[in-house]
Amino acid sequence: SNQTKRWQEMDAAHHLHPFTTHHQLAKTGARVITHAKGVYLYDSEGRKLIDGMAGLWCVQVGYGREELAEAGYKALKELPYYNAFFQTTNPYTAELSQKLSEVTPKGIDRFFFANSGSEGNDSAVKIIRYFWNLQKKPNKKIFIARKKAYHGVTIAAASLSGLTSMHPQADLPMPGFVHIDCPYWYGEGGDMSPDEFGLKTARALEEKILELGADNVAAFVAEPVQGAGGLIIPPATYWGEINRICKKYDILLHVDEVICGFGRTGNWFGSQTYGIEPDMINMAKGLSSGYQPIAAVGLGGRVGDVIFNSDEEWSHGFTYSGHPVACAVALANLEVMQKEHLVEKAGGSTGAYFQKKLAELGDHPLVGETRGVGLLGAIELVKNKATREKYPSELDVGYRCRVHCFDNGLVMRAIGDTMVLSPPLVISESEIDEIFYLARKCIDLIARDLGV
Ligand code: PLP
Repeated sequence: SNQTKRWQEMDAAHHLHPFTTHHQLAKTGARVITHAKGVYLYDSEGRKLIDGMAGLWCVQVGYGREELAEAGYKALKELPYYNAFFQTTNPYTAELSQKLSEVTPKGIDRFFFANSGSEGNDSAVKIIRYFWNLQKKPNKKIFIARKKAYHGVTIAAASLSGLTSMHPQADLPMPGFVHIDCPYWYGEGGDMSPDEFGLKTARALEEKILELGADNVAAFVAEPVQGAGGLIIPPATYWGEINRICKKYDILLHVDEVICGFGRTGNWFGSQTYGIEPDMINMAKGLSSGYQPIAAVGLGGRVGDVIFNSDEEWSHGFTYSGHPVACAVALANLEVMQKEHLVEKAGGSTGAYFQKKLAELGDHPLVGETRGVGLLGAIELVKNKATREKYPSELDVGYRCRVHCFDNGLVMRAIGDTMVLSPPLVISESEIDEIFYLARKCIDLIARDLGV
């Protein structure tokens, strides 16, 4: 329509999009999403899409929830803004802090609020450096993270990230950030069993610590399941070994729960699903189901007590740390999740049904592996199922599959040639059926394009 064209023209002329090749987008024009309800998105041409990604892995309670809108509206009227500097707080931030201490992994009990996952991780880097400085171990400076990790885009978060495409444009990583192999068994495990490969990649941490000297290493930073790096599910042996190594060498373990938090893997946090023992966690996305920008860094006693008991003022914090409207919406979101048992469902019936349907795609000639946990799923497209050989990257198989999905009413993300799903936790079985019906149809379409 003319209205759609108008928006597309304004957008093409003046809007820089995240992670986009702009001249390519300008050719087709951006799709204009105007409203959303439940697990469905609607565009300005009246077309409906089922959102297999919950936005960017974040809309746990689905779109259009009155409870969240009402909570935000009430806070906007009563206290649209105040800060938490200068010895003040507000009811929403206080209540949210308390609530988080009840659902986060054991021992995590103090929370610093930020506005995005990236800011949370940047804050965590500063908290960790401050902690070691207070501990009179100022040499413990180096952060070890993993290849294919995604921790955000601010300068420290992007340095922690291990997606190589993110580094050269901004001359990253900064000094003091190093990356080890990740437990991507399907792509890199070769002849090893998943368990052997899990141990090998966990021990890469020990090797790196020994190489750098434990006295120089501040922390290991990792996602329970690597999300944007291609949905890398850790083998069963991986995290126990990481816990052991971090303790043995006195390295802090900072777990990035931005995707895995709030039910995604079937427990409140991925740390609980995998038996991880974090000193600190970062959370965002599902904390407010994406309805408001809010993130939190959760500290366990070891780090939290040291910061808390320091005599000097802690020089860090944002204008919007603990924003009352964002906290009110996050609180309402957590109440909906509890009332509707969304975490239990992701770890129980809904998750089991989703995983069953996901596994059924494994019979497709183009599908090398399906893998998932809770309400996360990946479908890795390959040229040769026996050798796991991929199509040449110039063929853009994943990207083209995503375009088929978009044209057929499904949002499914492509990470290279791995198709990824992460639907709202409120999804029903018939909606799961719809996602997998469309996913198979679109994998058939790309198979036809490739002459398979
Ligand atoms: N950490 C993880 C694990 C993420 O997946 C993301 C975003 O996808 C981030 C951090 C960055 O969060 P944000 O985009 O809110 O800055």
